[in-house]
Amino acid sequence: MQLYLANHPYRYECENLCRLFFPYSHVQVVDSPLTAPGPWAQAIAQEGPGGFIYTARVSDGQKVAEKSAQQGALEEYAMTNLLYAAFVELTGSQPAWGMLTGIHPVKLLRQYVEEGGEGAGLEKFRTHCHVTAPKAALALQTLRAQAPVTASIGENDWALYISIPFCPTRCAYCSFISQDVKHAQKLMAPYFALLLEELEKTAEVTRALGLRLVSVYIGGGTPTTLSAGQLGQLCESVHRLFDLSGCPEFTVEAGRPDTITREKLAALKAGGVTRISINPQTLSDQVLQNIGRLHTAQDVLDAFALAKEAGFADINCDLIVGLPGDSQPGFEKTLEGVLALGASNVTVHSLALKRGARLEAEGGTTLHRRQQETAAMMDYSIRRLGEEGYVPYYLYRQTRMAGNLENTGWAKPGSLCRYNIYTMDECVSVIACGAGGVTKLKDPYSGRLERIFNFKYPYEYISRHGEILLRKDGVTGLYEQFRKRLH
Ligand code: SF4
Repeated sequence: MQLYLANHPYRYECENLCRLFFPYSHVQVVDSPLTAPGPWAQAIAQEGPGGFIYTARVSDGQKVAEKSAQQGALEEYAMTNLLYAAFVELTGSQPAWGMLTGIHPVKLLRQYVEEGGEGAGLEKFRTHCHVTAPKAALALQTLRAQAPVTASIGENDWALYISIPFCPTRCAYCSFISQDVKHAQKLMAPYFALLLEELEKTAEVTRALGLRLVSVYIGGGTPTTLSAGQLGQLCESVHRLFDLSGCPEFTVEAGRPDTITREKLAALKAGGVTRISINPQTLSDQVLQNIGRLHTAQDVLDAFALAKEAGFADINCDLIVGLPGDSQPGFEKTLEGVLALGASNVTVHSLALKRGARLEAEGGTTLHRRQQETAAMMDYSIRRLGEEGYVPYYLYRQTRMAGNLENTGWAKPGSLCRYNIYTMDECVSVIACGAGGVTKLKDPYSGRLERIFNFKYPYEYISRHGEILLRKDGVTGLYEQFRKRLH
């Protein structure tokens, strides 16, 4: 899609709106208003005697829609709102999340509620951003569920994230840096040894700063690609190095059922892990095959039974709506199967097609056509999870999501995972160890977020580990700056 902009600086926002309505089209900003044969958009501001005249023209290559308005000052909202209205008229589609293109809708709703109270905040969220009533209600429920957690955050609180970037095989929709164990086998032992060193360094730094650890999360990848012995050693290191007296939760993403064994579960249980994830994504064998998973639905059920036998009461299951080959009845069967298992948390994702994912090339356009069906699956999950007593407690969006929907974490009362709120809401510092980890430090006084990146791939992490340790000193430097700015 070609996008022409004139006399305003809102390029990024206008590009995002183009992607919202044409998610599989590459947006190219051009410097002439000449219209191309394919889809195009124009967002123009012109200064006149009475203020600014805004014009938005959009086309799908056949029809054209045009909107114009006048306003005294040059404003982002005036331009983007008009462009949004033109796209709605052209496509006849009203996105569920309106013109919101950011990933944290609940954060925005919180801001509006803090400014004007719940009623006025919700109204602004609905009308100003064109969010549909069901999605606004979902965001409000999420905001309310988060409130006790966000209200209890202390200025020295932090969460530890540990990355195990290996998986048994690579899923077709995955854009994560994870490497399959067959190819990365020889990297796993050195990676693990260096990861323990980084944990030691992190413990040193956070202890000296007087920070309070409030959550531990081992994610990936698939952490259970580690052996039972390694998992035990990792948990033991966490307990030895960090003070967990203020930390009510310790999560491990067991993830793929084909990596879960009785021995590994026993090691995690003995290692003080309070919560695990077993992620079916779907309980259809055919769909599992379509996405490149080696396990069957029965493997999920068996892994779940093993986890219960090992004493885990808090188990999350991730599901995805919009997978290739799945259908509305198929998804309903999956969700009912997960509910029957008694998972305490269910996270429902919409398939997001990222650059680098195998599925993008294979089926992107077809998937786009299935938006309606995907939305119906999501609606079904919202209804059924609500009926079964689950509450939505974190929610985020990604670009290029199937059906332009959301990912929502649901939990039975008393079992929500604080880490998910901390990281999605960016309200607590998260210090990450391991390849691909991104440390996000929250300045508790100004609210600003500072990032420190680890190397992405395990081989870089291993070969340049000295730099990783030095970057951990950056945590000290940034906290000193936060505290200096306060005094
Ligand atoms: S299990 Fe997760 S991280 Fe691993 S390949 Fe599949 S989607 Fe990617």
